[in-house]
Amino acid sequence: MAAFASGAGFTASQAQTQAAVELETRPANCPPDVEQLGRATWTFLHTTAAYYPEKPTMQHRVNMLSLLRALPVLYPCSNCAQHLGENMKTHPPDVSGRAALSKWLCEQHNEVNERLGKDKFECTVEKLDERWKDGPSDGSCD
Ligand SMILES: Cc1cc2nc3c(=O)[nH]c(=O)nc-3n(C[C@H](O)[C@H](O)[C@H](O)COP(=O)(O)OP(=O)(O)OC[C@H]3O[C@@H](n4cnc5c(N)ncnc54)[C@H](O)[C@@H]3O)c2cc1C
Repeated sequence: MAAFASGAGFTASQAQTQAAVELETRPANCPPDVEQLGRATWTFLHTTAAYYPEKPTMQHRVNMLSLLRALPVLYPCSNCAQHLGENMKTHPPDVSGRAALSKWLCEQHNEVNERLGKDKFECTVEKLDERWKDGPSDGSCD
């Protein structure tokens, strides 16, 4: 994907268009690229955080910490895993409850967004619950 998008002779805009076309025409049963893997992983992590207990038991906390600490070791994008591991050293996971965990993940995701030149997400419980748990109040996702 990256090699395709940065092919010689393309302007940045042409490369983006080509990448979008490739994404649309790529068969659904291809192995995931970095973008697809990232979207699926964020979906899993944010949704799991949205349903994490307000008052987690010690076992919940231990399991969540194990899951998050495994990512810098096991996540199959080495560059992504390395960045995450470095961030987690200075900004360790907060597994003390649903709101704190959701916010921590949001901030981790925003760090990647910023690095990739994407918009940041507003890390409030209201916005996070709307996106990952309840859907918008207009009922369009019900
Ligand atoms: C741990 C991890 C590290 C990664 N590191 C890299 C990297 O170093 N380099 C790289 O190229 N790619 C990396 N990725 C992939 C990258 O983050 C994106 O997933 C990928 O580029 C696809 O982006 P997207 O624009 O489709 O939406 P994504 O960034 O995947 O976001 C999916 C949806 O989440 C919502 N969202 C966006 N930001 C937030 C937030 N802060 N909090 C809550 N919800 C939000 C939005 O509704 C968005 O549509 C990483 C992924 C993960 C899981």
